[in-house]
Amino acid sequence: MKVWTHFLRGFVLKVFYPTLMLIGAFVKSKKSSLQAYIVKLNNYLVMKENKEVKKILLLLPHCIQNSKCDIRLTFDVFRCRRCGNCKIAELISLAEKRGVCISIATGGTIARKVVKEVRPDAIVAVACERDLSSGIVDTYPIPVIGILNERPFGPCVDTTVNLQKVEDAIGWFTKEKIHEKLQ
Ligand code: SF4
Repeated sequence: MKVWTHFLRGFVLKVFYPTLMLIGAFVKSKKSSLQAYIVKLNNYLVMKENKEVKKILLLLPHCIQNSKCDIRLTFDVFRCRRCGNCKIAELISLAEKRGVCISIATGGTIARKVVKEVRPDAIVAVACERDLSSGIVDTYPIPVIGILNERPFGPCVDTTVNLQKVEDAIGWFTKEKIHEKLQ
């Protein structure tokens, strides 16, 4: 583990991020791209930090579940019937295949609760720019690789994610080959 990247990441998340968000408060059109920049910078530093990890948590946003699905997955993602109408089914299969914990969070409070309960060494998180950047800051010093969700129907409903990016992020923590560049 490289100590300087660990502290540099702390500086980026605890000092640089609030400064950027202050700028974003005045230039609202730029806020989302500033948050995306922080996620990208964090991912880079996490990879440089190269911390050895054993327990990985795959943390997903609630909006990735099909909005017509009537199953409540917040406290147990394995209640999913795996009908294939959203990416949850494939993400559960991926988590099982790679031996990682998986959970869905409806917001920052639940996400913090899940992290406290699971106590992972590292997190692969999927969310929008806002939730990812704030979640990464909240969970420091746990290393998080953030993957932006895709929003074909607009924000917060029936979102999706590139499964290869999720698999590559898990593979990076477990030191396996990365198939494509993250983010
Ligand atoms: S894959 Fe799971 S979460 Fe998605 S719609 Fe089907 S049952 Fe619901």
